[in-house]
Amino acid sequence: MPFDERDEPAATAGPDEQYCSSCGEIIKREAEICPHCGVRQQQPQQKNPGLAAVLSVFFTGVGQIYNGQVGKGLALMLIQFVNLLLVFALIGIFTGFIVWVYAIYDAYSVAEKINRGEIEP
Ligand SMILES: [Zn+2]
Repeated sequence: MPFDERDEPAATAGPDEQYCSSCGEIIKREAEICPHCGVRQQQPQQKNPGLAAVLSVFFTGVGQIYNGQVGKGLALMLIQFVNLLLVFALIGIFTGFIVWVYAIYDAYSVAEKINRGEIEP
């Protein structure tokens, strides 16, 4: 007797759905409590991409920390500190600018991804 019967068809979460953090069933994104297992869902924090970018404009790495990526933010700060030292060797102006622009873009795009639930902060 082959085991070709499945309880449920393979399904993927739609744009207004997400996976339950406890049992993994597909539930509505707005659902506060999973109807399958009754576990309360952790509401994903909403991030403001514009604010994340602006924070990065003023201080590299702060936008990442705002997004909850503290390690990445501190790493970017450290890189910019090294670039600051390299300014005296002129090359730091170039590398510092690149990291600065990257950090602004990264802060913005990660905040959007957090809002879409694509990545955990
Ligand atoms: Zn569940």
